[in-house]
Amino acid sequence: MPFNKTEENSVITIPALGDNYIYLCKCGDNQVFAVDPGEASSVWETLENQHFNLVTILVTHHHYDHTAGIDELKKKTGCNVIAANKALIIHIGNRNIQAILTPGHTQDSVCYYVQPYEKHTGLLFTGDTLFIGGCGRLNECSAQTMWNSLQKIVALPDDTLVYPGHNYTEENYEFALTIEPNNNLVKKTLQTIEDWKKRGKPTVPSNIGHERATNVFLRADDPEIKSALNMSNSTDSDVFAELRRRKNLFG
Ligand SMILES: [Zn+2]
Repeated sequence: MPFNKTEENSVITIPALGDNYIYLCKCGDNQVFAVDPGEASSVWETLENQHFNLVTILVTHHHYDHTAGIDELKKKTGCNVIAANKALIIHIGNRNIQAILTPGHTQDSVCYYVQPYEKHTGLLFTGDTLFIGGCGRLNECSAQTMWNSLQKIVALPDDTLVYPGHNYTEENYEFALTIEPNNNLVKKTLQTIEDWKKRGKPTVPSNIGHERATNVFLRADDPEIKSALNMSNSTDSDVFAELRRRKNLFG
Protein backbone atom coordinates (compact mmCIF):
# COMPACT_ATOMS: atom_id res chain seq x y z
CA MET A 1 0.00 0.00 0.00
CA PRO A 2 1.85 3.10 -1.13
CA PHE A 3 0.18 5.43 1.33
CA ASN A 4 1.16 3.38 4.35
CA LYS A 5 -2.37 4.34 5.36
CA THR A 6 -2.80 4.36 9.10
CA GLU A 7 -6.29 3.79 10.38
CA GLU A 8 -6.88 6.91 12.42
CA ASN A 9 -10.07 6.55 14.36
CA SER A 10 -9.98 10.03 15.81
CA VAL A 11 -10.82 11.72 12.49
CA ILE A 12 -14.17 11.51 10.71
CA THR A 13 -14.06 12.53 7.04
CA ILE A 14 -17.21 14.09 5.57
CA PRO A 15 -17.16 14.43 1.76
CA ALA A 16 -19.14 17.53 0.72
CA LEU A 17 -19.89 19.86 -2.20
CA GLY A 18 -18.56 17.47 -4.84
CA ASP A 19 -14.87 17.36 -4.03
CA ASN A 20 -14.43 19.03 -0.62
CA TYR A 21 -13.52 17.19 2.55
CA ILE A 22 -14.79 18.44 5.92
CA TYR A 23 -13.26 16.86 9.02
CA LEU A 24 -14.32 16.22 12.58
CA CYS A 25 -11.53 15.38 15.01
CA LYS A 26 -12.15 13.90 18.46
CA CYS A 27 -10.64 15.91 21.29
CA GLY A 28 -12.26 14.43 24.41
CA ASP A 29 -15.30 12.39 25.50
CA ASN A 30 -17.83 13.00 22.73
CA GLN A 31 -16.10 16.27 21.94
CA VAL A 32 -14.96 17.17 18.45
CA PHE A 33 -13.58 20.12 16.58
CA ALA A 34 -14.39 20.65 12.89
CA VAL A 35 -12.11 21.81 10.08
CA ASP A 36 -13.45 23.88 7.16
CA PRO A 37 -17.19 23.18 7.27
CA GLY A 38 -18.13 24.26 3.74
CA GLU A 39 -21.70 23.15 4.48
CA ALA A 40 -23.62 22.75 7.73
CA SER A 41 -26.13 19.99 6.93
CA SER A 42 -23.77 17.01 6.58
CA VAL A 43 -21.77 18.11 9.62
CA TRP A 44 -24.88 18.57 11.74
CA GLU A 45 -26.17 15.15 10.70
CA THR A 46 -22.90 13.50 11.74
CA LEU A 47 -22.90 15.34 15.08
CA GLU A 48 -26.46 14.19 15.76
CA ASN A 49 -25.95 10.58 14.66
CA GLN A 50 -22.75 10.10 16.63
CA HIS A 51 -23.76 12.21 19.65
CA PHE A 52 -20.77 14.50 19.28
CA ASN A 53 -20.49 17.89 20.87
CA LEU A 54 -18.90 20.42 18.51
CA VAL A 55 -16.67 22.71 20.57
CA THR A 56 -14.58 24.56 17.99
CA ILE A 57 -14.36 25.18 14.24
CA LEU A 58 -10.91 25.68 12.71
CA VAL A 59 -10.76 27.59 9.42
CA THR A 60 -7.82 27.24 6.99
CA HIS A 61 -8.68 30.21 4.71
CA HIS A 62 -11.52 32.48 3.69
CA HIS A 63 -12.87 30.71 0.57
CA TYR A 64 -16.61 30.07 0.65
CA ASP A 65 -16.39 26.31 0.06
CA HIS A 66 -14.49 26.06 3.37
CA THR A 67 -16.59 28.48 5.42
CA ALA A 68 -20.22 28.44 4.26
CA GLY A 69 -21.42 26.17 7.08
CA ILE A 70 -19.84 28.14 9.92
CA ASP A 71 -22.66 30.52 10.83
CA GLU A 72 -25.33 27.85 11.06
CA LEU A 73 -23.14 25.46 13.05
CA LYS A 74 -22.14 28.24 15.41
CA LYS A 75 -25.78 29.17 15.94
CA LYS A 76 -26.79 25.56 16.60
CA THR A 77 -23.91 24.57 18.89
CA GLY A 78 -22.44 27.78 20.34
CA CYS A 79 -18.97 26.58 19.29
CA ASN A 80 -15.89 28.81 18.98
CA VAL A 81 -14.53 29.70 15.57
CA ILE A 82 -10.78 30.09 15.06
CA ALA A 83 -9.11 31.32 11.89
CA ALA A 84 -5.54 31.70 13.13
CA ASN A 85 -3.66 34.70 11.79
CA LYS A 86 -0.47 34.09 13.70
CA ALA A 87 1.64 31.07 14.60
CA LEU A 88 0.29 29.88 17.94
CA ILE A 89 -0.65 26.78 19.90
CA ILE A 90 -4.37 26.21 20.31
CA HIS A 91 -5.67 23.95 23.08
CA ILE A 92 -8.92 22.18 22.28
CA GLY A 93 -10.00 19.47 24.74
CA ASN A 94 -7.11 17.03 25.04
CA ARG A 95 -5.37 18.15 21.85
CA ASN A 96 -2.63 20.71 21.30
CA ILE A 97 -2.76 22.22 17.85
CA GLN A 98 -0.08 24.30 16.23
CA ALA A 99 -1.23 26.89 13.70
CA ILE A 100 1.36 27.09 10.91
CA LEU A 101 1.02 30.13 8.65
CA THR A 102 1.25 28.96 5.03
CA PRO A 103 0.44 31.84 2.65
CA GLY A 104 0.39 30.84 -1.02
CA HIS A 105 -3.08 29.72 -2.10
CA THR A 106 -4.38 32.78 -0.24
CA GLN A 107 -2.61 35.29 1.99
CA ASP A 108 -4.51 34.04 5.02
CA SER A 109 -3.90 30.30 4.47
CA VAL A 110 -2.99 28.38 7.62
CA CYS A 111 -2.42 24.68 8.31
CA TYR A 112 -3.28 23.08 11.65
CA TYR A 113 -0.88 20.51 13.09
CA VAL A 114 -2.46 18.39 15.81
CA GLN A 115 0.51 17.26 17.87
CA PRO A 116 0.96 13.54 18.62
CA TYR A 117 -1.17 12.45 21.57
CA GLU A 118 -0.94 9.12 23.45
CA LYS A 119 -1.05 6.43 20.75
CA HIS A 120 -2.07 8.84 18.00
CA THR A 121 0.39 10.19 15.45
CA GLY A 122 0.37 13.85 14.51
CA LEU A 123 -2.34 15.09 12.14
CA LEU A 124 -2.07 17.93 9.64
CA PHE A 125 -5.11 19.71 8.22
CA THR A 126 -3.87 21.51 5.13
CA GLY A 127 -6.91 23.22 3.56
CA ASP A 128 -5.97 24.23 0.01
CA THR A 129 -2.22 24.50 0.69
CA LEU A 130 -1.17 20.85 0.27
CA PHE A 131 -3.29 18.24 -1.50
CA ILE A 132 -2.47 14.58 -1.82
CA GLY A 133 -0.08 14.56 -4.75
CA GLY A 134 -0.64 18.28 -5.34
CA CYS A 135 -0.89 21.81 -3.97
CA GLY A 136 -3.32 24.72 -4.18
CA ARG A 137 -3.46 27.33 -6.92
CA LEU A 138 -1.52 30.53 -6.35
CA ASN A 139 -4.47 32.91 -6.06
CA GLU A 140 -2.99 35.69 -3.97
CA CYS A 141 0.74 35.03 -3.57
CA SER A 142 3.92 34.29 -5.48
CA ALA A 143 5.38 30.86 -6.23
CA GLN A 144 8.27 31.66 -3.87
CA THR A 145 5.85 32.37 -1.02
CA MET A 146 3.99 29.07 -1.56
CA TRP A 147 7.24 27.13 -1.90
CA ASN A 148 8.47 28.57 1.41
CA SER A 149 5.18 27.64 3.08
CA LEU A 150 5.32 24.08 1.78
CA GLN A 151 8.84 23.72 3.22
CA LYS A 152 7.45 24.45 6.68
CA ILE A 153 4.95 21.62 6.59
CA VAL A 154 7.09 18.98 4.90
CA ALA A 155 9.54 19.40 7.77
CA LEU A 156 7.00 17.69 10.07
CA PRO A 157 7.59 14.01 10.97
CA ASP A 158 7.11 11.52 8.10
CA ASP A 159 4.29 9.68 9.87
CA THR A 160 2.17 12.84 10.24
CA LEU A 161 -1.20 12.11 8.64
CA VAL A 162 -2.26 14.64 6.00
CA TYR A 163 -5.90 15.71 5.61
CA PRO A 164 -6.40 18.16 2.70
CA GLY A 165 -9.44 20.29 1.85
CA HIS A 166 -10.21 18.66 -1.50
CA ASN A 167 -10.08 15.37 -3.31
CA TYR A 168 -7.98 16.20 -6.37
CA THR A 169 -5.81 13.14 -5.78
CA GLU A 170 -6.38 11.24 -9.00
CA GLU A 171 -5.79 14.21 -11.32
CA ASN A 172 -2.70 15.22 -9.33
CA TYR A 173 -1.03 11.85 -9.90
CA GLU A 174 -2.15 11.82 -13.54
CA PHE A 175 -0.43 15.20 -13.86
CA ALA A 176 2.72 13.89 -12.14
CA LEU A 177 2.98 11.20 -14.83
CA THR A 178 3.07 13.91 -17.51
CA ILE A 179 6.30 15.12 -15.88
CA GLU A 180 7.77 11.69 -15.08
CA PRO A 181 5.99 9.01 -17.16
CA ASN A 182 8.20 6.24 -15.79
CA ASN A 183 7.96 6.97 -12.07
CA ASN A 184 6.85 3.60 -10.64
CA LEU A 185 5.96 4.92 -7.21
CA VAL A 186 3.60 7.47 -8.79
CA LYS A 187 2.11 4.81 -11.07
CA LYS A 188 1.53 2.48 -8.13
CA THR A 189 -0.06 5.30 -6.12
CA LEU A 190 -2.40 6.14 -8.99
CA GLN A 191 -3.50 2.50 -9.21
CA THR A 192 -4.29 2.47 -5.50
CA ILE A 193 -6.27 5.70 -5.79
CA GLU A 194 -8.30 4.33 -8.69
CA ASP A 195 -9.03 1.20 -6.69
CA TRP A 196 -10.19 3.23 -3.67
CA LYS A 197 -12.34 5.40 -5.92
CA LYS A 198 -14.08 2.31 -7.33
CA ARG A 199 -14.81 1.16 -3.79
CA GLY A 200 -16.07 4.61 -2.78
CA LYS A 201 -13.31 5.17 -0.21
CA PRO A 202 -12.07 8.69 0.55
CA THR A 203 -8.47 9.17 -0.60
CA VAL A 204 -7.39 10.41 2.83
CA PRO A 205 -5.23 10.43 4.78
CA SER A 206 -1.80 10.42 3.22
CA ASN A 207 1.28 11.11 5.28
CA ILE A 208 4.18 13.55 5.03
CA GLY A 209 6.69 10.81 4.10
CA HIS A 210 4.56 9.64 1.19
CA GLU A 211 3.97 13.20 0.01
CA ARG A 212 7.69 13.98 0.08
CA ALA A 213 8.31 10.88 -2.04
CA THR A 214 5.47 11.22 -4.57
CA ASN A 215 4.09 14.77 -4.63
CA VAL A 216 5.72 16.36 -7.67
CA PHE A 217 5.26 19.90 -6.29
CA LEU A 218 7.25 19.01 -3.17
CA ARG A 219 10.02 17.65 -5.39
CA ALA A 220 10.75 20.92 -7.22
CA ASP A 221 14.19 20.76 -5.55
CA ASP A 222 14.84 17.22 -6.85
CA PRO A 223 17.49 17.07 -9.64
CA GLU A 224 15.38 14.40 -11.41
CA ILE A 225 12.38 16.74 -11.64
CA LYS A 226 14.56 19.67 -12.69
CA SER A 227 16.10 17.52 -15.40
CA ALA A 228 12.68 16.27 -16.59
CA LEU A 229 11.71 19.93 -17.09
CA ASN A 230 15.04 20.90 -18.67
CA MET A 231 15.54 23.27 -15.73
CA SER A 232 18.62 21.76 -14.10
CA ASN A 233 20.14 25.18 -13.40
CA SER A 234 16.96 26.86 -12.16
CA THR A 235 16.09 27.70 -8.58
CA ASP A 236 13.71 25.45 -6.64
CA SER A 237 10.97 28.08 -6.60
CA ASP A 238 11.29 28.69 -10.37
CA VAL A 239 10.87 24.96 -10.92
CA PHE A 240 7.92 24.97 -8.55
CA ALA A 241 6.38 27.91 -10.49
CA GLU A 242 6.78 26.00 -13.76
CA LEU A 243 5.10 22.90 -12.29
CA ARG A 244 2.23 25.02 -11.02
CA ARG A 245 1.90 26.72 -14.45
CA ARG A 246 1.75 23.34 -16.20
CA LYS A 247 -0.78 22.02 -13.70
CA ASN A 248 -3.06 25.02 -14.38
CA LEU A 249 -3.00 24.12 -18.08
CA PHE A 250 -3.53 20.43 -17.29
CA GLY A 251 -6.66 21.20 -15.29
ZN1 LIG B 1 -9.44 27.77 -1.48
